[in-house]
Amino acid sequence: MEIQVPAPVEQIIKQLNHCGYEACAVGGCVRDSLLGREPGDWDITTSAHPEQVKAVFRRTIDTGIAHGTVTVMIDKTGYEVTTYRIDGEYEDGRHPKEVEFTPDLIQDLKRRDFTINAMAYSPETGIVDAFGGMEDLKAGIIRCVGNPIDRFTEDALRILRAVRFSAQLGFEIEAETYEAIKTMVPNLRHISRERIQMELTKLLLSSHPERIRMVYHTGMAPYISDEFGRVSLPLPAVSPKLPAKKHLRWAAFLQNEEEADAASILKQLKSDNDTINRTRALVRFVKLPLLPEKAAVRRVMSQMEPELYDDLLVLKETRQEDISQIRRLTEEIRRAGDCLSLKSLAVGGQDLMDAGIRPGKAVGETLNRLLELVLDHPEYNQKEILIRYALKA
Ligand code: ATP
Ligand code: MG
Repeated sequence: MEIQVPAPVEQIIKQLNHCGYEACAVGGCVRDSLLGREPGDWDITTSAHPEQVKAVFRRTIDTGIAHGTVTVMIDKTGYEVTTYRIDGEYEDGRHPKEVEFTPDLIQDLKRRDFTINAMAYSPETGIVDAFGGMEDLKAGIIRCVGNPIDRFTEDALRILRAVRFSAQLGFEIEAETYEAIKTMVPNLRHISRERIQMELTKLLLSSHPERIRMVYHTGMAPYISDEFGRVSLPLPAVSPKLPAKKHLRWAAFLQNEEEADAASILKQLKSDNDTINRTRALVRFVKLPLLPEKAAVRRVMSQMEPELYDDLLVLKETRQEDISQIRRLTEEIRRAGDCLSLKSLAVGGQDLMDAGIRPGKAVGETLNRLLELVLDHPEYNQKEILIRYALKA
């Protein structure tokens, strides 16, 4: 079995070999290459200790020396090179107290979470597969390396990683591993909310976002947070047809929640503000009926960025709402270039003050009233008409 290794990775492996050390690509990049997926990054594992790695290469960065990781720079790209290690006992179900280097590749593979993530490859050795990773890869199975209860006890993040990989790869979780997940869910309490969010986001952005259900079926959800545990899952499930945008997938998942609750769940999980705000807007508007009338459509369009509005329509479609008329009206409104925001109103604050409106609150209020008018009557978006209207009312 051959893997296409990028030239810089091959160069790093060869240079380490040349200096008498073993080195291979390892983990996710081997898994993804074997599946014909584009690996996100290439990790290298080696028998060389960090200072030895640093002596071999001209440009390196001390990324995590204590854990054996050195970043080797080739051109402008960094590659993580990590010494073979055995993880010591885990302090809090998350951080290994200490790491111990080992000269044995198999020991390093043994500390890895799942069989499909525990394979290594180098042009010299070919695939190194000591735990049946290849077989599980072919069968589409997520299985812990070793005893799953022990492995989830060491690090509870693996519980979420199992579900996330299952969603990304469309794999099934092997029975004993699945049972161990159900037993070990309370340990998720040790995992930071941000790490949890990152895994859930990857899950939702995957080709099987509907597997977010597994977070509920396994009993994980209440250990993420009380609010998270109470979420009422959408029916039909989060659709893989939705474009893989964070706010869109999160909104699909949280669509039955009140907008404030959706926002609060995301905030608790330390999501970024953009995602929180967009998700909140989608969760709010997806529940409001959108009448197939131009003025109503303009009003909704005026309340969000064009791209977010398009996302809203896509989301409504997955709720099996017929929005073909809305789409047609949207097209017409856009083609006509109807005014949808204060920015494109034919008058500005200065125009109103020049016409005699008193500077201050009245100016803003008048502008908003004019926008309301124009949303109903786009043909009124002319300076003269608007000033006359502003002075009259
Ligand atoms: P991706 O990068 O697509 O998320 P990956 O498998 O590369 O997937 P990383 O988090 O980049 O995942 O980790 C690289 C490798 O390190 C994994 O393939 C696995 O072998 C090992 N690993 C990562 N996290 C853990 C963990 N929590 N427990 C045990 N091994 C882990
Ligand atoms: Mg990776």
